[in-house]
Amino acid sequence: MKRRLIVLSSPSGGGKSTIARKLMKDYPDMMFSISATTRKRRPKETYGIEYFFLSREDFLRKMKNGEFVECEKIFGNYYGTLKNEIRKALDIGCAMLFDIDVKGALSIKRAFPNDALLIFISPPSIEVLRQRLTRRGTESEEEINSRLQRAAEEMSLAGEFDFTVVNDDLEMTYNEILGIVEGGME
Ligand code: ADP
Ligand code: 5GP
Repeated sequence: MKRRLIVLSSPSGGGKSTIARKLMKDYPDMMFSISATTRKRRPKETYGIEYFFLSREDFLRKMKNGEFVECEKIFGNYYGTLKNEIRKALDIGCAMLFDIDVKGALSIKRAFPNDALLIFISPPSIEVLRQRLTRRGTESEEEINSRLQRAAEEMSLAGEFDFTVVNDDLEMTYNEILGIVEGGME
């Protein structure tokens, strides 16, 4: 059975954006699910490419109107997957890639049990995760600590995913994920 909704999830810093970028290059026909968020746009980000950046008011209105398949409050901001985005892919039979948090991934599985393929990307250890987040340099030390705290809780949900891949060596991890994605789409 073809599973077209490929959901990558991991604690913050686990490597999902790095892997998602590589997959999008290798699969030009794959669509990326653009989430809505109330988080501030970072300098290199563009509305409608990485996210639909919304005011809190607009986000909550969409939530009330039932426009989200799932949404979560993460580190003080709302993030959500729009039903419209998923419809776009399913209508034309295209694979779609998701880079979302662990709870969101499990909600996608509940909503689309036959279409979703859930891959949990695990850091080799919390200590390595701390080093990677520090090296990435996009969060303060305080923010890194709150990500690490949340990471422990997220790791405990890995067993509910279809696959878990430990992201130690990036190339090996990527090859393993390619194998899973190919298998899921056969
Ligand atoms: P996420 O999207 O899950 O928050 P990122 O893809 O931004 O994580 O990865 C966090 C940081 O770790 C980035 O700086 C990235 O370049 C680095 N990274 C990802 N995978 C590896 C790896 N296997 N080995 C070393 N560094 C990695
Ligand atoms: P960032 O702000 O670093 O882009 O993302 C923060 C976290 O929100 C990441 O774990 C990312 O995967 C997650 N995220 C992004 N979009 C969504 C979404 O639509 N739903 C959920 N549940 N999480 C999301």
